[in-house]
Amino acid sequence: STFEVTCSYVDTPLGQGAVVVFQDVTMLTQAEQMRRDFVANVSHELRTPLTALIGFIETLRGPAKDDANARERFLEIMAREAGRMERLVKDLLSLSQVEGEARMRPTERVELAGLMRSVAGALAPLARDAEVEIEIETAVPEIHVQGDPDQLRQVLTNLVENAIKYGRSGKRVSLGLSAPEEMPELQGQGVALVVRDYGPGIDEIHIPRLTERFYRVDSHRSREMGGTGLGLAIVKHIVTRHRGRMRISSTLGEGTSIRILLPVD
Ligand code: ADP
Repeated sequence: STFEVTCSYVDTPLGQGAVVVFQDVTMLTQAEQMRRDFVANVSHELRTPLTALIGFIETLRGPAKDDANARERFLEIMAREAGRMERLVKDLLSLSQVEGEARMRPTERVELAGLMRSVAGALAPLARDAEVEIEIETAVPEIHVQGDPDQLRQVLTNLVENAIKYGRSGKRVSLGLSAPEEMPELQGQGVALVVRDYGPGIDEIHIPRLTERFYRVDSHRSREMGGTGLGLAIVKHIVTRHRGRMRISSTLGEGTSIRILLPVD
């Protein structure tokens, strides 16, 4: 623990005395440290593509000025780097928006089976390019929760995108919607969204840290896939705001399954 100590002398009717105040600032220091780490991470993540962009601009203005081939190639790389910065800024805004709303309960009625089909449809092109089949299994034709439709869509989108990107070797991704057996305190009043892939899986030592901002199992692979390292942090925040829980289970060589447990009205 970290304490801040202040001492002041006082005159009392009984003579001179001292007041010593110990204030536990452990939480404050930790929060401050986390904020500093976050700013350092963001700066680093932005600087990498920015440095590449500046380098290519210099080259295009100088040595490669008259080389049409090089120009095409460099512009392509520049577009990719700019895209990376755009995704990062978009994810940072999402994260800050969700954090800002953490204490406000979402109020809309959202139908999850339709949402699941809609997300699967929107990601069909990504799945097709990765040669992955998306399967949907819903035990119930429709189920409503109280929530924020855009945020719940983002949860599913992030999870399914990860399953396609990292689990593509498994050739299929399955999405499920069912009444959860593992939330006894809800007494059947809950629902589980499950996104499963049959890819390489994640070593268990990484699992507790996956929802930290910028935590990646393999940074090189994540960057190659266009990842920002913020996807699961955003998911975690949204689920918490919906008073839900998130369970990640994974077996190396068999795949990963992420369950989102949400209370229903
Ligand atoms: P990213 O933008 O890097 O994908 P996420 O927060 O979405 O960031 O995920 C964090 C890390 O967790 C990823 O970099 C990846 O290493 C790992 N990961 C996430 N989903 C899966 C999955 N389905 N299979 C294997 N690894 C995964």
